[in-house]
Amino acid sequence: MSREPAMVEGRSNRPRSAELYDRARRVIPGGVNSPVRAFRAVGGTPLFIARGAGAQVFDADGRAYLDFVGSWGPLIAGHAHPAVVAAVTEALARGMTYGAPCAPEVELAERVVAAYSPVEQVRFVSSGTEAVMSAIRVARAFTGRELIVKFAGCYHGHADHLLVAAGSGLATFGRPSSAGVPEAFVGCTRVLPLDDEAAAEELFAREGGRIAAVIIEPLPANHGLLPQRRAFLQGLRALTLRHDALLIFDEVISGFRLGRGGAAERLAIAPDLATFGKVIGGGMPVGAFGGARRIMARLAPDGDTYQAGTLSGNPVAMTAGLATLDLLVRESGWERLESSGAELERLLTPVLSAAPFPVHLVRVGSLFWLSFHAAGAPRVAAPLTAAESARFAALFHAMLDRGVYLPPSAYEACFLSLAHGHAELTRLAEALRESLATIA
Ligand code: PMP
Repeated sequence: MSREPAMVEGRSNRPRSAELYDRARRVIPGGVNSPVRAFRAVGGTPLFIARGAGAQVFDADGRAYLDFVGSWGPLIAGHAHPAVVAAVTEALARGMTYGAPCAPEVELAERVVAAYSPVEQVRFVSSGTEAVMSAIRVARAFTGRELIVKFAGCYHGHADHLLVAAGSGLATFGRPSSAGVPEAFVGCTRVLPLDDEAAAEELFAREGGRIAAVIIEPLPANHGLLPQRRAFLQGLRALTLRHDALLIFDEVISGFRLGRGGAAERLAIAPDLATFGKVIGGGMPVGAFGGARRIMARLAPDGDTYQAGTLSGNPVAMTAGLATLDLLVRESGWERLESSGAELERLLTPVLSAAPFPVHLVRVGSLFWLSFHAAGAPRVAAPLTAAESARFAALFHAMLDRGVYLPPSAYEACFLSLAHGHAELTRLAEALRESLATIA
């Protein structure tokens, strides 16, 4: 047996999550392996999850919660979907990794290429961060240019040159947004505001000849949900073409969630490169990046641009992705998710309009966000006031008390899965109605 009983001796009435958190904080920085999990934005002790099934998670104390985090996006089929679990279990028995090519990676690559028309070739990695890092390297190799342009409020993983905050002014030289990132490492990154054609035009007029790529989340979902005007994204497409720079759509969240062809298909805008993660790995650690053959051909071993990974394309992760995509196709997943999203909107709209303070629902497909901005849902990255943040924290805990698990940050989007049906959405609306009343 483990040493757990000794650890809890004399404190056995403490919740098991709190016990685990104490232990975790001794041996893991902040007690977590990814910062937002620590509940710092909402206060309290993070739940340690012991099990997930369908639309629910169960914490270490055996309490059930209706889950709207979905592991931050991958679990589009819900937790432990039997078809995905069966496929993965079968794959596991054949070995977890070979470090040599295998059939499932070819099948998943064929699936991506067939689904996402701007992608002719794709390479698999183990996270979204790696996917973006690699896409940017190949963009720089292909164009022979150094600068990359990102947008304030978009997140592209934690590679040094992307941990960049906007400086003052419109088109800015970025500043590192994290300690440990040298100024020199972000010297080739420019940061623009979303929703602002003029700022992009102005930057390109000044530095267009040095810009390798513009990277954007076509549906920004990391600073709340900030749907962009199609004209703005079309403008970026035109601008990059005019200056021979590449356009990269970071579809780590939107890819295979907004539909088979991601945000690119919805918007009918073709990027030069796209990055994927989350859904494409069905809950296993997978990322991918792809684009036109002429760009991807720069990668080793055919080309001069190095990129590699011990566990890249491993059979278990590829199988989880394949099983998830199969399920989405077989069960008309994207249509069902769209109608769940529409039902959610119908149920939540009257609840939110009766709230004692302004809360706005932003919803695109199976992604939604409760915006606590009193002024209305923004289209650019906008900070919440302390009072607005405090309202969200109160709502978060009121919902948790009612068995509903929302992302523990006011800036995070919520995720629906195929396991969220009429009963789950009704429960969400009811819990929200009660919770909002308690924090009036
Ligand atoms: N790009 C986007 C748009 C993301 O949302 C994320 C993660 N939330 C990443 C990249 C990084 O992915 P990962 O956490 O798998 O490294």
